[in-house]
Amino acid sequence: PWQRAASELAPQTGIILGLSSGLSQAQTFMVNSTPIIGDDGKCRGVLASFGDVSELERNKTELSRMLGKLKKSRSEIKRQNEKLEILAMRDPLTGCLNRRTFMEAFETLWTSAKRHGHSLSCVMVDIDHFKSVNDQHGHGVGDLLLQKVASLLISALRDGDQVCRYGGEEFCFLLPHLDIEHAREAAERYRRLIESTKFNELHVTVSLGVSALDWGAKDPKELLEQADKGLYVAKRGGRNRVVTWNEVPSDFAMSES
Ligand code: GH3
Ligand code: MG
Ligand code: MG
Repeated sequence: PWQRAASELAPQTGIILGLSSGLSQAQTFMVNSTPIIGDDGKCRGVLASFGDVSELERNKTELSRMLGKLKKSRSEIKRQNEKLEILAMRDPLTGCLNRRTFMEAFETLWTSAKRHGHSLSCVMVDIDHFKSVNDQHGHGVGDLLLQKVASLLISALRDGDQVCRYGGEEFCFLLPHLDIEHAREAAERYRRLIESTKFNELHVTVSLGVSALDWGAKDPKELLEQADKGLYVAKRGGRNRVVTWNEVPSDFAMSES
């Protein structure tokens, strides 16, 4: 900087220079250089001052290191929080919503469907004779099969549909905007999808019960009960089938579940 001050005849201020003598720790200086200009306008010399800012620079480096660490741990905390949120909302085995989160989503969809006069359908799905899979192949294989059935069902859903692991080998779907006939078609599609898939040489079927707002359920719980009764009738009728709420015999439909 003092050479530049001399050649440019202009002060150079606030220049940071690192100096290392080899004897002590490297030092950092802030250098200000001012040219001394004679009457003839030529440079007679340069006045240079050196302020030791080593400590300041060390602190600055340490501070930016700490800031970097802080940023890293902030994003780590965010990542962990997202993980916790998923854990709190979803069933760990299948990734489906857990019951509590599902019921919250149900309330929201129910209110929206009522407000806008849309339909909303509910499908209960239960794997047929799942106990015998566990009995014959062990619980580990049962778990894997459960995961595969769940992911296949999830892949068949549209945006906005919700799926919950309702019980051990039982799933519940909410299909916004679908009336009973379209929900029946969707349920038939799920049934055929599972029936036609081989899961590592294993083969399972599902039974399904379907209900829709059109049939006058007064709250989410009643819509679930209607689908559940359809499922019960599907099981009783021989399994691997879809039964809609209007197909449930009226004496059973009226009974308390
Ligand atoms: P159904 O056709 O009447 O539905 O017969 P099912 O055998 O599927 O029904 P049941 O209710 O008799 O038995 C359900 C079985 O599901 C028993 C239970 O051990 C098994 N199950 C429930 N949750 C899990 C799980 O997380 N993993 C495994 N491997 N099995 C489970
Ligand atoms: Mg079952
Ligand atoms: Mg069951």
